[in-house]
Amino acid sequence: MEEEVRICTHCGEILAEYEGTTVDDDLLCDDCVDELCTTCDHCRDTIWTEECVTDGHTYLCRECFNNHYRRCERCDNIIHDDNICWHNDLHYCCSCYDDIDDDDEIEDYSYKPDPVFYGDGKRYLGVELKFDCCSKDDDNASTLKEIANARHEHIYIKSDGSIDDGFEVVSHPMSLDYHMNKMDWETLLKKAINTGYRSHQTSTCGLHIHVNRNAFGDNRRCHNMVEISKSLPKKIFHLP
Ligand SMILES: [Zn+2]
Ligand SMILES: [Zn+2]
Ligand SMILES: [Zn+2]
Repeated sequence: MEEEVRICTHCGEILAEYEGTTVDDDLLCDDCVDELCTTCDHCRDTIWTEECVTDGHTYLCRECFNNHYRRCERCDNIIHDDNICWHNDLHYCCSCYDDIDDDDEIEDYSYKPDPVFYGDGKRYLGVELKFDCCSKDDDNASTLKEIANARHEHIYIKSDGSIDDGFEVVSHPMSLDYHMNKMDWETLLKKAINTGYRSHQTSTCGLHIHVNRNAFGDNRRCHNMVEISKSLPKKIFHLP
């Protein structure tokens, strides 16, 4: 009776009957396993290091990764499905999620929500007002939002690279009447000034007013958004 010779498919070493590890369709000696393989942290199978999914801490076979894990959107670390923190349909590890939560009140500069129109009429004005000279502070942003958004989602707050120590307050489009009588600009601006923010007495700040295009009639050459000179908004908002 002829005995089957067992050979390491990688280095050719002859293996005893009890020796060797099967990886996919290959039989490997212990040295080759040490050199070429790793252990899946989930199913404990021996897998090719070259084909494993890893972030440098966790090593997984592709099947376990696909079935039970994801990568954090921010740091790319591998996280088990049970430990994922969801935010806006994106998944994060817990520590990245905490970071996101910290600056939740101040949106990224590119943030552009669907506009909500307040008031009646044909002409809607959206205000972008930069605040500087205090701090890019989440609590301050939150306080200002609470004042302005007490009844409706009137404003949002974004970070702006051109501001040293502050942020930009952006209103949803509102009729002039709504700005003057319903939107509480006065309390908002007083609070901002008392907190230490400044707007027009700085070199970094400006005020933009955006107006919807059809407020100007059917002239196709009009730009989508039009900036009005600074005199009008000063009249409207009694800026300091
Ligand atoms: Zn070998
Ligand atoms: Zn596995
Ligand atoms: Zn992360």
